[in-house]
Amino acid sequence: MQAIHYPALGIAEVTEIPVPDLMPGHALVRVRAAGLCHTDIEVLHARYGGGHFPLVPGHEYAGVVEAVAEDVTGLEVGSRVAIDPNLPCGTCRACQKRMFNLCSNLKAYGVTNNGGFAAYSMVKASHLCDIGSLPFETAALAEPLACVLNGLNAAQLTTGPFATQNALVFGAGPIGLLLALSLKAKGVQQVTVADIVESRLEFAQSLGLSTAVPGSDDLAVRTKQFDFVADATGVARVIEGLVGFVADGGTALVFGVCAPGTEVSISPFEIFRRQIKIVGSHSLNRNIPDALAILSHDNEGLMARLVSHRLPLTEVVSFITKRDVAPSTMKVQFVAD
Ligand SMILES: [Zn+2]
Ligand SMILES: [Zn+2]
Repeated sequence: MQAIHYPALGIAEVTEIPVPDLMPGHALVRVRAAGLCHTDIEVLHARYGGGHFPLVPGHEYAGVVEAVAEDVTGLEVGSRVAIDPNLPCGTCRACQKRMFNLCSNLKAYGVTNNGGFAAYSMVKASHLCDIGSLPFETAALAEPLACVLNGLNAAQLTTGPFATQNALVFGAGPIGLLLALSLKAKGVQQVTVADIVESRLEFAQSLGLSTAVPGSDDLAVRTKQFDFVADATGVARVIEGLVGFVADGGTALVFGVCAPGTEVSISPFEIFRRQIKIVGSHSLNRNIPDALAILSHDNEGLMARLVSHRLPLTEVVSFITKRDVAPSTMKVQFVAD
């Protein structure tokens, strides 16, 4: 079968590899859509996931069950499914607290085990989530959306009289926009996205989001005015500025990924005096079904519009290896017939 393959550190190619043999407890999924994520590039360079090569990358995918191991019950050939890629150990301290995303021995399809950038993927049956009638391309957004929802859960957006009324998200890439649209789906009235690229702001506006330009006078006068402020850039300077925009008692979410050694300077007095919450978030925690529920209620298809490229594997691989990607590029997906 055709697959994107990382034979060794730093090498990404499209090649033929055998269709995996079906193991007990597993199903063989014919991949119909698989999204590219910056993590796939980090995995190639062993900056994330510890460098397990050879590897088929891809952890955001959906498809059709092609075969089911004999010992698996309750799963039919032909089922339409999305994959929960995380493979926690189930026994470490974090797993015992059901924070499976923080497993000290976390493995994942597309990171340590072969993933979705292939014609077929063998997945544990317990990691398949029914997608109903959702289009595969939309269902392949469930994994990044689940990561976003994990962040919003960590931030504990409140409802009722103390509800988060407004939010500011830095970064109008696919994840920043997914975060912004999720805030709206959760009932936050005013959601503003900030980015330095004008075309991205125009796209954000077409999704019904307010926009702002970082460093502009318009944004400078809005310090301490947002109940919730999130970073989806991974730029240290942006993260350093988050707290300044948070209203008293509000929350800053660090969602974008900085390099491990990065440090920023934040005023502890301000955190204390203004009772600011600073929240982190990593990956997803068995919440693909929550993401699928939101996607199935996205009647206007706003989230689905984040898919900008639907490509064969031979073209997806170039987005893994090339340095410059046009700012109009949102979510790149491998889509199979
Ligand atoms: Zn990802
Ligand atoms: Zn664990």
